Amino acid sequence: MADVDGTLTDEDGSESPAACKTVRRLEQCGITVGFVSGRHLSNLEALAQQLEISGPIIAENGAVAKLTPDGEILDLGYSREPALKELNRLKQLFPGAIREREDNAERLVDVVFFIDGVAHSVVREQLGDIQYYDSGYVLHLMERGISKGRTLLRLLNEMGYQDLSPTETLVIGDSPTDISLFELFPYSVLIPNPRLTDTQRRAVERVARYVSDLFCGDGFAEVAIHIAMARGC
Ligand SMILES: [Mg+2]
Repeated sequence: MADVDGTLTDEDGSESPAACKTVRRLEQCGITVGFVSGRHLSNLEALAQQLEISGPIIAENGAVAKLTPDGEILDLGYSREPALKELNRLKQLFPGAIREREDNAERLVDVVFFIDGVAHSVVREQLGDIQYYDSGYVLHLMERGISKGRTLLRLLNEMGYQDLSPTETLVIGDSPTDISLFELFPYSVLIPNPRLTDTQRRAVERVARYVSDLFCGDGFAEVAIHIAMARGC
């Protein structure tokens, strides 16, 4: 299961040709590839079609999921109400400072926005019982208890995805939003991302099992080629 931004992309945020090529190679080797990302579902569905993956899609940092790219959206029981309530409260507290990102309309649970001229610590002090984090690209508000790792575990344990156990699943990611994957799955790869602060880098390095030598998409390609070769293809 691969994260997308910083994992299958290059440092400039564009899709990494090397990573995309190796995703296709893994699928051709009979290794199921899935996405677990902060992106919204329709974006990941398009990428899944483009890269011809057959595995699950987990969108919005764990809030939305499908078992296969052309399957139905699963009912995970998550709500957008708590995040929308907090967003509206922030708009009232900091008039003119909150800018919702364009893709907010596409999102089902997660709320994404930017905030101008207000320190994160000040925003955090004002928030109620909600997840608030900076993915490195945008700020997120989401109901507590949702994470990439927890949702992937639910697909395996509750929904019996392909009878796989966590030890038969490799998780690959680049940032603090992937920590839940690194904590819950014993086989994990951290792809270094130069955008991370030293504190963020230390936090992810502490929990990942293996760290690739190369940055971003090149790091993914490096790891994926080893996996394909180990399969003899
Ligand atoms: Mg990422």
